[in-house]
Amino acid sequence: VRILAIETSCDETAAAVVRDRAIESNVIASQVRAHQPFGGVVPEVASRAHLANINGVITAAMGEAGCDWSAIDAIAVTCAPGLVGSLLIGVTAAKTLALVQQKPLLGIHHLEGHLYASYLAEPTLEPPFLCLLVSGGHTSLIGVYGCGEYQLFGQTRDDAAGEAYDKVARLLGLGYPGGPVLDRLAQQGNPEAFDLPEGNIRLLDGKVHPYDSSFSGLKTAVARLVEELRQTYDELPLADLAASFQKAVAQALTKRAIAAAVDHGFKTLAIGGGVAANSGLRQHLTAAAEPLGLQLIFPPLRLCTDNAAMIGCAAVEHFQRGDRSPLDLTARSRLSLLEISALYTAAPL
Ligand code: ATP
Ligand code: FE
Ligand code: MG
Repeated sequence: VRILAIETSCDETAAAVVRDRAIESNVIASQVRAHQPFGGVVPEVASRAHLANINGVITAAMGEAGCDWSAIDAIAVTCAPGLVGSLLIGVTAAKTLALVQQKPLLGIHHLEGHLYASYLAEPTLEPPFLCLLVSGGHTSLIGVYGCGEYQLFGQTRDDAAGEAYDKVARLLGLGYPGGPVLDRLAQQGNPEAFDLPEGNIRLLDGKVHPYDSSFSGLKTAVARLVEELRQTYDELPLADLAASFQKAVAQALTKRAIAAAVDHGFKTLAIGGGVAANSGLRQHLTAAAEPLGLQLIFPPLRLCTDNAAMIGCAAVEHFQRGDRSPLDLTARSRLSLLEISALYTAAPL
């Protein structure tokens, strides 16, 4: 099965051609520089950039794959969740192509795409496996039992892990996006320099929630610490701050992912989303997984951050199952991963 996939849920305009679990092209036009002056993604700016880039990105993806329309079995597009103005550009392009080229249309849930990046990285991977999805908007522990069969074990109660990185970087005056800069600084600092909270969620009985996380308290703790340090230092100990923050995040995520894997008997843990690139998280997870014999899958960074190949990979399986989306498919800013059956009708026999 060969799919042309389109992804425009946030700030990357992306198109890819995927054949089963193999990538034939994967084109991404990043908008990072357009948003940098604002210190974060501006929805209006994103929509306009998607509009300017979408046709060129699709043409490039088809060209790099070296295939014409007759070789394409279906058009797939991220239709939820995300910035609705951004999603709309991709959805409109996909619907138009499906109509003009007479191809089936498949709307794909963005997080399902992130889950499927693991299949691209490890084509022999089969469910069940556990996925730790850590991105700019999500921090979720998801059990994968098959295409469309997911269980949500835990999530963040407030900020996502990537969001915490971006906010702390901003606080320290390090620019946007914050993850890569903080990660680099952290590797030069002392993780024991400052004691920062891990962000535990307490249950009514006082016990810590085993899988849910919280990062807003950690962000506030860093803000307070910075204010305190400013009274004593002319220059903030940035590397030590970054290293201590990174340790708190990595520990929190590792503890929860390992607990869910052990409690539910998973033998494989796949990591997805932009924060999967984080060196501290990789170290902590690797150290914890090894004695348990737990297999870890870290997809390469270009597949962890937003891309259309992961959307195409998810679409391949939906296509094979006979799922089809109607041509009046709409973009939705919110949709639970557990509700994706709403996107499909069965293929006509
Ligand atoms: P979502 O999929 O939830 O809508 P998103 O797709 O925008 O969010 P991604 O593109 O997957 O998120 O990831 C971007 C996030 O990853 C940013 O918050 C960025 O700071 C973070 N990030 C990137 N590299 C690193 C790193 N090395 N360490 C920590 N965070 C990182
Ligand atoms: Fe994403
Ligand atoms: Mg992104």
